Amino acid sequence: MPFSSPSLLSTPYTTLPIPRNLIPPRQSPSPSTTTTTSPTPHILWIGCTTTPTTDTNAVTNPRASMFIHRNLGPLLSATDLSTQSALEWSLNLLGVEHIVVCGHYGCSFLSTPSTSTEEQTTSWGVWGKDIAAFHAEHARLRKGMGKEEEEKRFEELYVLAEAEWLGRQEMVRKAVVERGLRVWAFVWDEERGEGVRVVRTGEKVDGEV
Ligand SMILES: [Zn+2]
Repeated sequence: MPFSSPSLLSTPYTTLPIPRNLIPPRQSPSPSTTTTTSPTPHILWIGCTTTPTTDTNAVTNPRASMFIHRNLGPLLSATDLSTQSALEWSLNLLGVEHIVVCGHYGCSFLSTPSTSTEEQTTSWGVWGKDIAAFHAEHARLRKGMGKEEEEKRFEELYVLAEAEWLGRQEMVRKAVVERGLRVWAFVWDEERGEGVRVVRTGEKVDGEV
């Protein structure tokens, strides 16, 4: 779970358009451990299972260049075997150079967290129990804000927190230091057919001096 502190919900950030060429083609040779002759994916794309899968259109990179991992949220967790194996596979075997965490506006899972006792005992209720708690805290902090704006802000803060959680994981941190792995936080806007990049205030943005 990316949220370790409610203060993260007050993180100052901004959203930026995603340049078409933000993620370049693979820069390093494909790892020799793979036996396939097709190009080895160099992007780990982490998306939500409730999105219509058009979120990868946020960039022009071909689908074949992406190793795609989806679950509800998406929700990353150090105790989830699926998340951990996807990270290990893509980092150690594929040698990915970029990780994209991509949420989407209007996510039904994030916007309607389980609240009833009955829902909280379902598998998806257990899966999202921490999200429900932070959703309630976010709603309290954003009291007076329109519902749509509040949900958009929560989605943006959510992917930012997930990207920052990834950056704290040992295997990710090692790849960042040793070979310049980049981690990106995106939110896909299905209505507009484009995404935004979420950047913490003060973070250096590509292209800036
Ligand atoms: Zn979703």
